[in-house]
Amino acid sequence: MPQRYYATVACPTCGTRFQTPIEQIMDVRVNPEVKNRLLSGSVNVALCPACGTGGMLNLPFIYHDPQREVALLYLPAEVGNTEVQRQQAAGRLTRQLMDSLPQEERKGYLFQPEVFLTLENLIKRVLELEGVTEEDLARSQQQRAFLDKFLSALEEDWPQLVAENEALFDENFFGMLQYTMQVIAMAGANGGDFGKVQKAFDYLVENTAIGRQLSRRNEALRTFSDNPDQNSLLEAMLAAPDDETLMVLVQSGISLMDYTFFQRLVNRIESTADPLEKARMVELRRKILEIRDALAEASEDVARARAELLEKLLNTEDPLKMARSYLSELDETFALVLRSEMMAARNRGDKQHLEALQRIANVINQVAEENMPGEVILARRLLMATDEQAQTLLQNNQHLLRPQFFQVP
Ligand SMILES: [Zn+2]
Repeated sequence: MPQRYYATVACPTCGTRFQTPIEQIMDVRVNPEVKNRLLSGSVNVALCPACGTGGMLNLPFIYHDPQREVALLYLPAEVGNTEVQRQQAAGRLTRQLMDSLPQEERKGYLFQPEVFLTLENLIKRVLELEGVTEEDLARSQQQRAFLDKFLSALEEDWPQLVAENEALFDENFFGMLQYTMQVIAMAGANGGDFGKVQKAFDYLVENTAIGRQLSRRNEALRTFSDNPDQNSLLEAMLAAPDDETLMVLVQSGISLMDYTFFQRLVNRIESTADPLEKARMVELRRKILEIRDALAEASEDVARARAELLEKLLNTEDPLKMARSYLSELDETFALVLRSEMMAARNRGDKQHLEALQRIANVINQVAEENMPGEVILARRLLMATDEQAQTLLQNNQHLLRPQFFQVP
C-alpha cells in the first residue's frame, strides 16, 4: 500500500496539537486533480479541529507530470539549517518519487528536478506549462483566502460574507471546499469540528446560485446511480440542469443507450403535448446523440493508449508500481481492453498469455482496493467537479464505481 504521511502540528491561534495528512509527491498521472489543488494553493492545508484556524503548512513536496517529463521540487527557505540538510531533504523527496515508479519509468529528468524556493514561483512554472493566465491564478488565491475566512467566521456572519463575495463562487471554489472537507475527514479521530465545516458546506450549497446548480446536478446523477437502468437514465437526462451533467450521464450510461433507449426517448417526445417541452426534448435528443458520437471517437484514442498501458504492465518487472503510477488510466476502457485480451487468449488456447493477463488483473484489483475510500467520496466529488473534471471524473473512477455503486450490467 502506498504510504500516507502525517504531520503533527500546533495551532498558531489556540495551541491545540493535532495530526494532519501531508502530501510529499503530487503526481498528476496518479491523481489529475492535484493540478487544480496546487494552483489554488490547496496543498498541505491544515485546519485546527478546535478553533477552525486554517492555513497551508510550508512543507517541501515534488510536483510530477510524467507526460511532460517535468519534476518541480518545492523547497521553502525554512527547510534545513545548512545547505547539506537542504540537499538531504531534496534527496529524500527525489528518492521517494523514484521509489514510487517502476524501473523503466525512472528517467533522467527525475534526477534533476527544478527547485523552487517560493510556492508562487512554482505555481507560475506550472501555469506556464499549462497555459493558464495570471488572472485565473489571482482569482483562485482570492477564493482560497475567502474560504479560510468563511470557515473561521461566526455563523451569524455567514449571510453577509456570502452577499459580499458573490463573485467568488464557482465550481472551482466548491472544489476547494470539498478538498478541505476531505482533509478534515482524513485527520479523523480528533477532527471534532467536521460538523461545522459540513454545516458551512450545506449553507453554501443552499445559498449560492452555483451551489444550487451543483446540487441539482448531484440529484440528477443520483437518480441514475441509485438505480441504474434505461428508465432512470432517461429521467436523469430530462432533469439534467446543464450540459456537463448530461455529458456525465451519457458517459456513465452509454452501455444502456441502445435502440430501445432511444425508442423510449422518442415515445416520450411524441406523447408530450406541450410544444415548448417537446422542443426542449428534441434538442435534448440531439445533444445526447452528439455527445455519444464525440465519446465514441475519443474512446478510440483512449483504447489505443490503454492497450499500450497493458503492454507496459505485461513487460515490466514491477507491475504493481506501474499500475499505481498510472492510477488515473486504470479506467473502464482499460478494463475492457484487458477483458477482450483475456477472451482472445482463451479462444486461442494461449494458456501462458492468459495467466500473464490474470496476474495483471490481480494487480489492478489490488490497486483499486488501495484506493477504496475514494468510492465514498466520489458522489461528493461529482457534485463538486468543474466542467472539465466532470467529463473525466466518472471515466477516471470507473474502477471505483463498479460493484456497489453502479451495478451497470
Ligand atoms: Zn486552533
